[in-house]
Amino acid sequence: MEINVWGARGSYICPQRSYSYYGGNTTCLEMISSGGNTLILDAGSGIIPLGREIIKSNKIIKDFHILLTHTHIDHLQGFPFFMPIYLQETKIHIHCGRWDVSAVSQTFERLFATQYSPIKTMKNLQAEIQFHEMDEFEIYNIMDFQVIPVRTQHTTDTYAYKITDEDGSTFGFITDHEIDNPDINNQIIKEFYGCNLVFHDGQLDKSEYSWQKGWGHSTVEKAIENGLRMNTPHLGIFHHSPDHQDAVIDSIRNDILASYNKDMKISFIREGDKFILPI
Ligand SMILES: [Zn+2]
Ligand SMILES: [Zn+2]
Repeated sequence: MEINVWGARGSYICPQRSYSYYGGNTTCLEMISSGGNTLILDAGSGIIPLGREIIKSNKIIKDFHILLTHTHIDHLQGFPFFMPIYLQETKIHIHCGRWDVSAVSQTFERLFATQYSPIKTMKNLQAEIQFHEMDEFEIYNIMDFQVIPVRTQHTTDTYAYKITDEDGSTFGFITDHEIDNPDINNQIIKEFYGCNLVFHDGQLDKSEYSWQKGWGHSTVEKAIENGLRMNTPHLGIFHHSPDHQDAVIDSIRNDILASYNKDMKISFIREGDKFILPI
């Protein structure tokens, strides 16, 4: 499978030049299966250029599938500007872990309300929007991807996803996860054990964590610890803090890698990165 990063930032968009190396768009990944199908992960602002690119490429997709981790705004805010929602004869399938799915559709509906948008209601969209809920630990087939949702420790219902392609390659997407509750974290380690590539929340440094404990995010150190416990060959640090300009991420990276001596490869994920699995 192929994974293209359209947004690696957490919390809010950072358009300034000092963020341009790692990128300022919020969470969105494009996954392309070995069979050529596209699965989109989250609808942060990165989904806006992705939608534009899909339209420009003349790729004909009638059914778009978006896998949603949760409804915090940094994972949703691009949706009203995702061009395919304005196309006739198009369906947008939003797959999410099981929480109150009517609340999820209501949250989406609010994105288009008069107070925020000229669209007024989702009913005015040309595309048909459908919501599909999933249970934790169950296996779902979305096109030729196999998806397993696993709950993370966050401040609202949030799911990590293990995604397997027909070619056997596996990807773990664990964003917005605080490593504090061993019961939740051990389930994550177990389900994602041995994935070819794992993206993991690494929003904070240690001093930030001391005052942001309980906000549902991990330090880079804890993310690496989790990656090692999962026995993944490649860990991607993801969901970068808006307080971390490029120079800050570079210095965190250099400090960590200076004393790091394990085999697991560590990447600090950048917008525009492309990964091909299996490596
Ligand atoms: Zn987030
Ligand atoms: Zn969140």
